[in-house]
Amino acid sequence: MPDEVTPRRKPSKAPRTAMPERDPLERTQDFLEVALGYDEELARAEAERCLQCKGPTCIAGCPVNIDIKGFVGKIIEGDYAGGVRVLKERNALPAACGRVCPQEEQCEAACVLARRGDPVAIGHLERFLGDYDLACDLEHRCVPEVGEPSGKRAAVVGSGPSGLACAGELARLGHAVTVFESLHAPGGVLVYGIPEFRLPKAIVTAEIEALVAMGVDVVTDAVVGATYTLAELTAELGFDAVFIGAGAGLPLFLGIPGENLNGVYSANEFLTRNNLMRAYEFPRYDTPIWRGRKIAVVGGGNVAMDAARTAKRLGAEEVFLVYRRSEEEMPARKEEVHHARQEGIEFKMLCSPVEIVGRYGWVTGLTATGMELGPPDSSGRRAPVCVMGSDFVIDCDTVIIALGTRANPILTQAAEGLELTKNGYIVTAEDGATSIPGVYAGGDIVTGSATVIKAMGAGMRAARAMDGFLRA
Ligand code: FAD
Ligand code: SF4
Repeated sequence: MPDEVTPRRKPSKAPRTAMPERDPLERTQDFLEVALGYDEELARAEAERCLQCKGPTCIAGCPVNIDIKGFVGKIIEGDYAGGVRVLKERNALPAACGRVCPQEEQCEAACVLARRGDPVAIGHLERFLGDYDLACDLEHRCVPEVGEPSGKRAAVVGSGPSGLACAGELARLGHAVTVFESLHAPGGVLVYGIPEFRLPKAIVTAEIEALVAMGVDVVTDAVVGATYTLAELTAELGFDAVFIGAGAGLPLFLGIPGENLNGVYSANEFLTRNNLMRAYEFPRYDTPIWRGRKIAVVGGGNVAMDAARTAKRLGAEEVFLVYRRSEEEMPARKEEVHHARQEGIEFKMLCSPVEIVGRYGWVTGLTATGMELGPPDSSGRRAPVCVMGSDFVIDCDTVIIALGTRANPILTQAAEGLELTKNGYIVTAEDGATSIPGVYAGGDIVTGSATVIKAMGAGMRAARAMDGFLRA
């Protein structure tokens, strides 16, 4: 609705509408979703809190500049299909983003109501519309229109948020797109990393269906760099341009004694086995996993929270979260920290692992040393400093290391002429152009581990630049 006909709404005194959640004790017994979503009544009540500002500050807080005022306005009018259309103009995965985006640091932080501490629950409303769309049959869902066929073909490497956003935008612009994914299912971290209880796989699959309905072709079990090299995609398979959205899935380890013991996992392997390969349903799915009794998870980000909460659901009696700074410095979303605490995860803050100890080849404990916080380091956070003589042992039979990831070299090492940083990330211009003409990149493979919506923004920016290249 244009600004000139949209009256600024009166501020509401109603508090932010809470989203219903399952009871913590009940939900740790299964992998079903924790947050239950708004029904129509709750969504309308929350949307009514939006002031429909003449100069909406929320939009600039969104990395893909979704017309937030526009879609919330449609909820106020009861035009949910219209709201979905507004959302899908800028975001191909609203039901996923409504669940996992850190809105509290982005659009909600920029909402004018945040000044008094109670911004509009933009993420919850986005999820409401995303779910509304997915509840319809595919033929009644919002599938964005594709442009006149350009006669050009683009390859997208990786089906995570950056690749999917790029593919969707290229299809809208009229290009034929094929996505190559190395795993057996598309979605990237949305399916292999983020657990079912935060983002059900069926949601991601259904959002990808809409892209397929736009004509995007998805080829799974295709490892670019092994099945085909980057050069073969253009020279032999005839693609006119390529986008690389291969993520940063190579796990980092601690480099301490004992890391090769049985019972030590990278969070990546632990979560992939559980999420994508459904190890928790063994023997129905043939991917067994070691179900420990006492589990130490090392790290303080979203990945550590996901691993700890997954371990709890697999039946661990005790799960410890071992982090070298204090809870205040944890990079994980506040909501995830809150949920982990509710579910009984024990936080061991200000301690850093020095050795994993074991017997007969299996983990029996994790030796950690106490830390205290010194002056801020280059990240702006107070740096942890060892407290001499404070070592202690955490009794555990499994250690999950969630320290972050790096770029996987499979693709990049077989790509002659592709400029990389010293850590193996791809160097790009602002629009995603790499050192090879016609090859673009975006998402975690460029920035290192970031967020879903930032990866999607990079994919969309690159798609627009590729459109210019393809039409030149
Ligand atoms: P990815 O999602 O990693 O996708 C890359 C895809 O490329 C993968 O499917 C991979 O299999 C494929 N691929 C790799 N190499 C090749 C190859 N050679 N050939 C073909 N295919 C290839 N962000 C949030 O915003 N909110 C969260 O709550 C959140 N939680 C997270 C939880 C976990 C456990 C993890 C690991 C990350 C989380 N993140 C979260 C971060 C976010 O998921 C990533 O920043 C985002 O997924 C990056 O998108 P991408 O497209 O760059 O890469
Ligand atoms: Fe204004 Fe917040 Fe509504 Fe955006 S979401 S239009 S900033 S009240």
